[in-house]
Amino acid sequence: MTQTTTAQVIDGVALSRQLRADVATRATALTRKGVRPGLAVILVGEDPASQVYVRNKIKACEESGLHSVFEKYDASLSQEALLERIEALNADSAIHGILVQMPLPRHIDPQRVIETIATAKDVDGYSTQSAGELMTGAPGFNPCTPYGCMKLIDSTGVNLRGKHAVVIGRSNTVGKPMALMLLKANATVTICHSATPDLKLHTLQADVIVAAVGRRNVVTADMVRPGAIVVDVGMNRNDEGKLCGDVDFAGVSHVAGFITPVPGGVGPMTITMLLVNTIEAAERTASRL
Ligand code: NAP
Repeated sequence: MTQTTTAQVIDGVALSRQLRADVATRATALTRKGVRPGLAVILVGEDPASQVYVRNKIKACEESGLHSVFEKYDASLSQEALLERIEALNADSAIHGILVQMPLPRHIDPQRVIETIATAKDVDGYSTQSAGELMTGAPGFNPCTPYGCMKLIDSTGVNLRGKHAVVIGRSNTVGKPMALMLLKANATVTICHSATPDLKLHTLQADVIVAAVGRRNVVTADMVRPGAIVVDVGMNRNDEGKLCGDVDFAGVSHVAGFITPVPGGVGPMTITMLLVNTIEAAERTASRL
């Protein structure tokens, strides 16, 4: 008889709740000291998905005791005007983190915008300076999604030292920073991408798989080593229009040791890590007062 195992599901909602409670405690302590942690969120245009993301971020701030400032601009806002607003927020001592919701209208260069945010307030961790800090081990801000993945992996209690981690995807916002964070945690890291000829060859050797592709069923049960930790970053729609990840959850959960679901895994952690970075930014400011 074949024995089937069932992976332990890593609950991103529960972990988020714990981490947000810690943010709230830290926010109360800081506010008592006279520093009210503040995040500025800028939205340009009417993109419906962006409006939902922004609303969720602001709600999460309020629930955790962070002060949030929401600035919404018409899609016709000039790049110059946006950069001026960011400079003003850089100089505003009530604001500790600045987030500009992507995508921006086509006449605005997103990289130019990101690079204008002061590094000390770059709580999304997307600037070249922040990327360089992650690369060199300086204490900057980690991009929220891979940072959340690290927390999910940490929550399994598995020590990454000497483990083999395979990251599928090499974007600047997820795959590459993920690989660097795993490396920092002493894992041996392989990065796979669209030109990797035999994905399975790599994933079958992995103690940890992080899938960040944006395509359904990139990871199936036959590609996973028994007991591996599988983190699914992907956000896709299945044939019924339901949200699903890159991993075939039904199949892989019978092979993996730990697995993150979609929804309820990486998704809630991304906003949580934004709150964590913002409270961290405010604490750093307070320590300099
Ligand atoms: P992206 O910029 O499109 O990058 C996708 C990566 O996947 C690229 O590096 C690409 O390789 C690689 N890839 C494509 N097809 C592949 C294949 N068949 N085999 C192996 N690698 C392949 O996407 P992203 O921004 O990193 O996001 C990835 C996914 O995560 C998306 O579904 C996105 O919606 C989701 N996401 C979720 C959250 C969250 O909070 N849950 C946050 C961010 C992103 P090349 O570089 O060679 O093209």
